[in-house]
Amino acid sequence: MTKACLERIRQAEPAVHALVTVTDELALSQAEKADELMAKGNTATPLTGIPTLIKDNMCTRGIRTTCSSRMLENFVPPYDATVVEKLNECGAVIIGKANMDEFAMGSSTENSALFTTHNPWDLSCVPGGSSGGSAAAVACSETICALGSDTGGSIRQPAGFCSVTGLKPTYGRVSRYGLVAFASSLDQIGPLTRDATDCALVMNAIAGYDPRDSTSVPYPVPDYTQCLNADLNGLRLGIPGEYFVEGMQTEVAEAIKTAITKLEELGANIDWEVSLPSTPYALAVYYIIAPSEASANLARYDGVKYGFSYQDTDNIWEALEKTRQYGFGAEVKRRIMLGTYALSAGYYDAYYLKAQKVRTLIRRELDRAFEKYDALITPTSPTVPFKIGEKMDDPLQMYLSDVCTLPINIAGVPAISIPAGFADGLPIGMQIIGKPFAEETLLKIAHAYQQATDWHKRRPSI
Ligand code: GLN
Repeated sequence: MTKACLERIRQAEPAVHALVTVTDELALSQAEKADELMAKGNTATPLTGIPTLIKDNMCTRGIRTTCSSRMLENFVPPYDATVVEKLNECGAVIIGKANMDEFAMGSSTENSALFTTHNPWDLSCVPGGSSGGSAAAVACSETICALGSDTGGSIRQPAGFCSVTGLKPTYGRVSRYGLVAFASSLDQIGPLTRDATDCALVMNAIAGYDPRDSTSVPYPVPDYTQCLNADLNGLRLGIPGEYFVEGMQTEVAEAIKTAITKLEELGANIDWEVSLPSTPYALAVYYIIAPSEASANLARYDGVKYGFSYQDTDNIWEALEKTRQYGFGAEVKRRIMLGTYALSAGYYDAYYLKAQKVRTLIRRELDRAFEKYDALITPTSPTVPFKIGEKMDDPLQMYLSDVCTLPINIAGVPAISIPAGFADGLPIGMQIIGKPFAEETLLKIAHAYQQATDWHKRRPSI
């Protein structure tokens, strides 16, 4: 299987550009070890020997972890992220590191300082982002599964754009130790896979408490495959009208409504009239909180500790300034400036504090909805994948491609995106949102839907 994926990488990479690093030697030696383990029988796990791709913002010991940034282009971590450690313990095969938007800031991988990933369904389109490399690679079978990170939609939006399954777990469900921090109160690691079953298997491997991440939650980890029975009878699903935003592509709204009707056929009770009135504020709240946290988190890149270091001066201040000037791309600098501004003494109350208050309102509104519904169903994105270059000159348009996914990180609840159709050959994703720690409900709905449809089985012809 590892050899097949490596061969596929050789074929598809010249067109797709999903991987920053291919770890072929490591992968083959891990695959050999997996073969040995499996020959012995009962020590193997479901992930033993399974090729897995890691987004390039998760530390891999001895393997370059670039964050798709000039700042970390030559950074080789001395340790593994907890999720990588856990995958290794399961005998998974690490096949490489996936391209992304620089420091996970973006929705298209166009902010990668290295190169842009192309959507395997239409090479002139973006794969989504920031985990665009992970999603594109799963879609075109360069890997069996991948890890992504999701701060405002970066697992779900590319999963939707590439027609794969992508889960953002509850905040605190998966350890962030060894994940390069973007916005620490929003970041969460999760799987990108072909279907709900694979997603459950990866969750079994990576979920759980980690004393090295003080925000990870000490709840027991269920066996996520146990919930994969196809029965949705009596499940209460709500459709929040605010997520069918103005300007949404009609084919997307139509496809999601058809998918919801399918869930109804499968036994779910649908309430089409749910209202979550704070939803429209999520975008503004996110673009205050995320840049604020980013501005603090990225202060560590000073050219002294690690990463790129401007050397052509004797002046420490100039070195610091030039390190950040050359090391960071335009979007990262924009976020640092936005965040620094929002946190500055004169504006803190008006922006940051206000955003935190609205964050609480958004969370409470969702909590109330979950008293009545087991899950909420929405589109993952307002449009199908857009053209490479189309939104690069207009940051606000780019930010808007996450309107449906941002509120979920703000509330800290879990959500999954699954393939739900195509418009003119381009994928459409459906988002299923759940109560805190109800990943099982999401997987159950996703699995039932995938038993009854074949969108997730279609592969791009590349
Ligand atoms: N696209 C959003 C942003 O640019 C979300 C990114 C993410 O989830 N990492 O911030």
